[in-house]
Amino acid sequence: MLGSLAKWLRIFGFDTFYANNEMTDEDLLHIATIEKRIIISRDKELILKGKKQNINVIEIKNTDLNDQLKLVLNLIKVDEKLVLSRCTLCNTILKTIEKSKVEGKIPKKVFDNNDEFWFCNKCKKFYWMGSHYKKITDKIDEITKRKIKK
Ligand SMILES: [Zn+2]
Repeated sequence: MLGSLAKWLRIFGFDTFYANNEMTDEDLLHIATIEKRIIISRDKELILKGKKQNINVIEIKNTDLNDQLKLVLNLIKVDEKLVLSRCTLCNTILKTIEKSKVEGKIPKKVFDNNDEFWFCNKCKKFYWMGSHYKKITDKIDEITKRKIKK
């Protein structure tokens, strides 16, 4: 249910595990314990179970993405060095890739306008800073200054 939030947390560089529908609460609690993860959820029952097991939990009540991000970022700080370090699809840490190796594999305009590129080994997807990096830093500014709607 929180797919957009998960994607943005990855953009910000957080190691984000996104649960699929087949996982039970018990599976999630187990993973959170073993991997020392924070559970972020709308599911009141899951949140309660997590609290009982001394797992760090963040309960999401807002439906607005920016409000959700604001809530999370108030509790866990973004490390600016890690922004755009992960694949937004699969959470894998991106590897830098030489410019010469991406030629012909991405739009020419993107190739011409960027010198640094990253690659997800798992999804075979290319990343570059481009204009969306500005969008991301703007988003961090926007979120950290924003008041949560009641
Ligand atoms: Zn990936």
